[in-house]
Amino acid sequence: MSGDDDLLKLVDEPAATAFAASEPWRVLIVDDEEQVHQVTRLALQGTSILGRALQFDSAYSAAEARAMLAGQRYACILLDVVMESEDAGLALVGEIRERFADSAVRIVLRTGQPGYAPELEVIQKYDINDYRSKAELTSQRLVTTLTAALRSYQQIRTIEANREGLRMILDAASSLMAVKAVRNFAEGVLTQVCAMLQVDPGGVICVRRRAGTRELLVLAASGPRAAFQGQTLESVGDAAIVERVQQAADAGRSRFGPDHAVLCIRSPRAEEMLVYLATGDPLNELDRSLLELFSINVAIGLDNSHLFEELEVMAFHDRLTGLWNRVSLERELATRIRKGGAFSVVVADIDNFQAVNDGLGHDIGDRTLKASAALLAEVFGLDTFIARTSADSFTLVVPGSDRGALEARLRALFKRLERNVRVDEHEIPLSMSLGVSYFPDHGDTAAALFQNAGIALKQAKRVSRASWQVFDDRFERDLQHRLQTVRELRYALERRSLRLRYQPQIVLATGRTYGVEALARWQRDEGALLGPDRFIPAAEDSGQIVALGEWVLHEACHQQQAWSRSCRRALTMAVNVSMRQLKDPDFVSMLRGVLKETSIDPSLLELEVTESLMMDDGSRLVGVLQEVRQLGVRVSIDDFGTGYSSLSQLQRLPMDRLKIDRAFITGLTQRREDDVLVAMIVNMGHLLGLRVIAEGVETEAQRGRLVELGCDEAQGFLFAPPIPPEAIAERLVREG
Ligand code: C2E
Ligand code: MG
Ligand code: MG
Repeated sequence: MSGDDDLLKLVDEPAATAFAASEPWRVLIVDDEEQVHQVTRLALQGTSILGRALQFDSAYSAAEARAMLAGQRYACILLDVVMESEDAGLALVGEIRERFADSAVRIVLRTGQPGYAPELEVIQKYDINDYRSKAELTSQRLVTTLTAALRSYQQIRTIEANREGLRMILDAASSLMAVKAVRNFAEGVLTQVCAMLQVDPGGVICVRRRAGTRELLVLAASGPRAAFQGQTLESVGDAAIVERVQQAADAGRSRFGPDHAVLCIRSPRAEEMLVYLATGDPLNELDRSLLELFSINVAIGLDNSHLFEELEVMAFHDRLTGLWNRVSLERELATRIRKGGAFSVVVADIDNFQAVNDGLGHDIGDRTLKASAALLAEVFGLDTFIARTSADSFTLVVPGSDRGALEARLRALFKRLERNVRVDEHEIPLSMSLGVSYFPDHGDTAAALFQNAGIALKQAKRVSRASWQVFDDRFERDLQHRLQTVRELRYALERRSLRLRYQPQIVLATGRTYGVEALARWQRDEGALLGPDRFIPAAEDSGQIVALGEWVLHEACHQQQAWSRSCRRALTMAVNVSMRQLKDPDFVSMLRGVLKETSIDPSLLELEVTESLMMDDGSRLVGVLQEVRQLGVRVSIDDFGTGYSSLSQLQRLPMDRLKIDRAFITGLTQRREDDVLVAMIVNMGHLLGLRVIAEGVETEAQRGRLVELGCDEAQGFLFAPPIPPEAIAERLVREG
């Protein structure tokens, strides 16, 4: 709807009037001759024009008139041209129009000298209404002149009032457009209506009809009724208001009563809004038209504010849990940083959420997330800001500098997590890992704090699940280093700068080499070879271990084949396989491919899997290892003794060999506990029908003790360090 059309519509309405009928017309007589004043007043005494009386003021110079005009608006000025100066009157006209910006007041110029007339140009420029000689001061003449002038004044004022009303409507609508929440919007409407009609704000109330019902709710009210915001209109306790508003709502349009009005503001998208106004007097036609127009404009704004509200909810909240989202988190952090008080950022990540989702379905997964959100809210309470910041992680902003208090809450959280979370009939064991960063110690931007809490979280996960870590600069340096490694590793595979070294594995009873373990090395630059501890963890994190592991397997099997041909020895090839590789859905088919391509005897290939990893994600990996063994490939449990597997867990594991961790071998001849432990492992292994190998054998004493304990095989610097393939070939030749 265009503003101009509305303007025309309103101006066309003849009944529209901007004034109360009782007010007199104010007329200012400006003349330096006292007689002119007297004659004019006398001639017009008791006259009323267009139904209203006349009220005169007198000024005897342009200067005096100027002073009076500053404090009062007049409908008409009867103005002498020649006063203090030849053109004092004309100069005043210019001032009225320009300085006082009064374009409505009608001006009738009068001059003593007949025949004197101002220039046509001046008459037009200053919108002079009429020009009369003082000789024409008869009653008849004056009434005719004034009637014409006042009628013209009335029209101008009506248009002005309409214009003013329209301007207010447009201003109101556009300023309301910017108000984003419905409640604020309603308050805005209230203020605007009161200003437009100059009614008492206490008598205005903004109501919403709840969708699909007849229930009326107070959206906004001022004065004593403000307290009813959000409650039903009935509760305000004025049955007449309820009835009137209900009628307007039922009729779906605005209604005007003798002392009140109800505006019905309807928009296509939003529910209706009704504005009750106690007007005291009946509203005149103009006010009604303005209000109707206002309602139409406001409906558009109401629509927008609903839209804004929805957008606001969508933009700042997580749909599933109803918690804040990441955008809000950034906002919250920025605000707190600006305020400057200490706070902590805690990133809480659900461990193995994927397993819940995969195992029990997305519905249960969703509800688990909701339950987790509720649990965090329960433990951390109202002063903590909680946002869901990724699929299975939450970020908390905890105010205060008391780290002890924060730790107490974290401990309470872990305590609470010991109990399962109930979702329907499912008892879900929930475990979380947490990373913490402090403001201002660990960053002065939202991004840095969030990122550093994330780094601490990663560290927590690395150390052990269900634990927390506070950010430390060291983590960051580690991470940077890892990232750099990951980048370079990508090229290492392509450029064939990875090497394999082989460490002989010995039959303790005979001292003969029965196999080797393939150990990866990286020729990072011209210098020395890097050990696996410098790049395997990064390769695991980045997933590159899958490709790297495949290369190792290929290379090792080819090498094994080369040796069997050249040395005619059935050498066992042990290859380390990490968890991440086993989890890869293509692992078994990859393995099958390598077996076929290299035509290695599968029983001479042995995969080394670490014990601690085996415990982590039990059943699925057991299945993978079973498939591996069905191919005829052997499995050995590396670093045995460092995990916490019970005998019953061990029995479930499909395996052929136990590899006792180096840590126990080191202490073997020095620490009694280690001696006992190694003895136990050897016996247990044999009970389970497994072969047992000791790794990290460095001394003759260790070898001797292992023989005594009945350990089958050994590997270590005592026999040989990891060496290049040519050295292995030489060794095999030497052994004959
Ligand atoms: P691991 O499988 O337990 O390998 C044994 C480690 O002990 C090797 O270290 C080996 O050089 C070292 N070692 C052998 N004998 C002795 C000894 O007498 N004394 C001492 N102090 N150390 C000895 P390395 O080569 O640095 O490998 C470290 C770990 O990296 C391996 O532990 C293995 O878990 C991993 N790794 C190596 N190559 C690969 C690979 O191709 N794939 C995967 N996934 N992991 C690998
Ligand atoms: Mg190994
Ligand atoms: Mg080991």
